[in-house]
Amino acid sequence: MSVATDVRMHDAAAMPPERNRALPDVARGLGGVAPIGMNIAVLGATGSIGTQTLDVVRNCLRGRELVCGAGEVRVVAMSGFSDMEKFAPLVREFSPEVVWVPDGTAAAELSGRLSGGNTHASLSIPEILTGDGGLVAIASECSADVVVNALVGGAGLAPTLAAIGAGKDIALANKETLVTAGELVMGLAREKNVRISPIDSEHSAIWQCLQGSDIVEVEKILLTASGGPFRGRGREEIAAATARDALKHPNWSMGAKITIDSATLMNKGLELIEAMHLFNQPPDKVEILVHPQSIIHSMVQFIDGSVVSQMGLPDMRLPILYALSAPRRVATEYPRLDFLACGDLTFEPPDMEKFPCLALARHAAATCGTLPAVMNFINEWAVGQFLQEKIGFYEISDIISEAFGIYNVKTVTSIADIREAEEWASEFLETRKARPAVVHAKRKCEEA
Ligand code: NAD
Ligand code: MG
Repeated sequence: MSVATDVRMHDAAAMPPERNRALPDVARGLGGVAPIGMNIAVLGATGSIGTQTLDVVRNCLRGRELVCGAGEVRVVAMSGFSDMEKFAPLVREFSPEVVWVPDGTAAAELSGRLSGGNTHASLSIPEILTGDGGLVAIASECSADVVVNALVGGAGLAPTLAAIGAGKDIALANKETLVTAGELVMGLAREKNVRISPIDSEHSAIWQCLQGSDIVEVEKILLTASGGPFRGRGREEIAAATARDALKHPNWSMGAKITIDSATLMNKGLELIEAMHLFNQPPDKVEILVHPQSIIHSMVQFIDGSVVSQMGLPDMRLPILYALSAPRRVATEYPRLDFLACGDLTFEPPDMEKFPCLALARHAAATCGTLPAVMNFINEWAVGQFLQEKIGFYEISDIISEAFGIYNVKTVTSIADIREAEEWASEFLETRKARPAVVHAKRKCEEA
């Protein structure tokens, strides 16, 4: 399998040259495509990745001819969720054809805000879709060539599958999509010949390190981790940590869920599974290396012993831009890395005992089948509970571990298997909620 210019493990010969989508086709190495521009859908436009994607479009792509010959870059579809005050000005600025919000109340608020601020007669109010079906529809039926999936959690899976089904390329931040249903997603992407461009900085780094090489020449992937805010702390101190402590990430400013996942190191476990699917590697060929400075975003060691790394300041706008322009580069005025100022670059192994979520994710990665979906579902719920200060830090891993102890893993043949696994996880959590005192009392006894 070749990764020569494309992260998709596709046979270049199988790519249809007639596809009329300038930027992705250039990325496929086909070249010579008319400058017709690129239409983008941004799902999760109000979030950390969503707003940075819009920053990239605003400052690096919009109104500028890309080096690769693409014409205008337009945002044709956007989704918001709970924050209409933040969403409305973005909709006004980018003027998409269609937007998604969760329900009628949000739709009424959005259109009120849009028409209230509509002092320009030329501003058209976009079509507004709502409900789960609307999110899937916006991902698959809008005029976008590329869908940027910046949704958080399990909500990202159905729109990704729908967009791929409709033949749209995906710039994927939503790692939970690949953790939950990596085989199905990558299988469908191969079948539909669409490109999955990773936005996650580590996976973007690996993709960049692989340019010009063949995947069979990879000896191992070195996936770097910052170590999160609790690196080097004692177990007791970590056990007492609150959501406020865990939200203080040393290097990255991100959404709440991923910041907690970074504190438990579950984020690195999710990224391990993400890397397995994107780059078709077994889990034992993905080594996790704590690199607290977050300058090296990941590395690839090849069979000749050479190691290629990708470096830069911790700035998500760079992998977002690369996901949209790869394999080409676009000029930016973003800050540059100064090697004389960035200090020592250090490395250490992850502490699996203090961060049991990583060990659980490694187990899920090795087991595969429906186990990663169960883990992802329970983790998402537990992180929500931790953020609301309803459970403690180590209860996140305790609950996942408890589920692993009783769950019978199934093979994944269709999306129904994933849904069944998630239903099992949901029932497990319901049953567990009915008896929390027993579990917590038992844990406290063991601790004493
Ligand atoms: P975020 O919480 O800041 O934003 C999430 C977006 O999804 C928001 O627009 C929110 O309104 C929307 N949303 C939330 N729940 C939804 C639902 N049920 N249905 C529809 N929309 C919903 O999250 P983020 O930090 O931008 O992360 C997004 C994804 O990118 C995650 O999967 C994360 O792991 C991944 N990622 C983020 C970063 C980062 O720097 N933030 C880096 C790498 C990967
Ligand atoms: Mg990452």
